[in-house]
Amino acid sequence: MYTTLKEITEMATKRNITAGAFNTHNLEMLPDLIRAAKDFEAPIIIQTSVDTAKYIGHENLVAVCQAMAKTEQVDVALHLDHARDFADIKEAIDKGYSSVMYDGSHLPFLENVLNTKEVVAYAHERGVSVEGEIGTIGGTEEGIQVSEQDKVYTNPKDALAFVKQTGVDALAVAIGTNHGQYRSKTEVNVALLEEIHRSVAIPLVIHGGTGVKEEDIGKLVDRGIRKFNVGTELLVAWTKTAKETFSDTPVNQSLRHMIIPCNHAVKQVVSKKIACFMNRSLNQ
Ligand SMILES: [Zn+2]
Repeated sequence: MYTTLKEITEMATKRNITAGAFNTHNLEMLPDLIRAAKDFEAPIIIQTSVDTAKYIGHENLVAVCQAMAKTEQVDVALHLDHARDFADIKEAIDKGYSSVMYDGSHLPFLENVLNTKEVVAYAHERGVSVEGEIGTIGGTEEGIQVSEQDKVYTNPKDALAFVKQTGVDALAVAIGTNHGQYRSKTEVNVALLEEIHRSVAIPLVIHGGTGVKEEDIGKLVDRGIRKFNVGTELLVAWTKTAKETFSDTPVNQSLRHMIIPCNHAVKQVVSKKIACFMNRSLNQ
């Protein structure tokens, strides 16, 4: 069914798995993301940036997720990723997203708390879940480059205070991952994650999941990661395939001949990730 982040992370906690949160970058690849989840009988979080939501249309994304949750019998949440503006969050909630992330991680702690609280009040009144963030994830966030020296790992004491004061349903943690990292793999700070997990009872979220080594996934799941974001890898798979399929094709050929292989390439990536998320014993 079409559901919330809170419900999905609760399911994941019970099964000691992590739910995959996959960024759809266009409407074409979206059905295959949900079909991949169906193959594994796994729940799935579909997420979009604010700009992708505006490009595709919020209502269109909601309609596809709701329809496929029903026809494919998959638990699907639709989540707005890294929103910094209350107006963008309000628009997504009002148009049917079931979950939002307010990212105030660039702000002073108190300001982040106050803004997040406001989002939580608006969202919870409407049955929508909220993910918050403290610390900074490396790489590029919504086009804003975070340099190495600006990276701040999540402090476990701050995490506890933040969760208590805001009432968020899930917390994104900065433990060494980077957005947009696909050429190499990162070293995650497992000890820090364990410390955060001991202080904070709510589901934790990893961003920049493309750069996480497969053998580390199980360690993260065992330390409270219940939402695992993967975006860049899908983008790379789709675009690489599109470059090949579009390059030598007659211009009057049906587009599906070029686009279906792109969607399948993405589905393969998602299936591989979900297999790791579901069968953690392979990664330990
Ligand atoms: Zn992120």
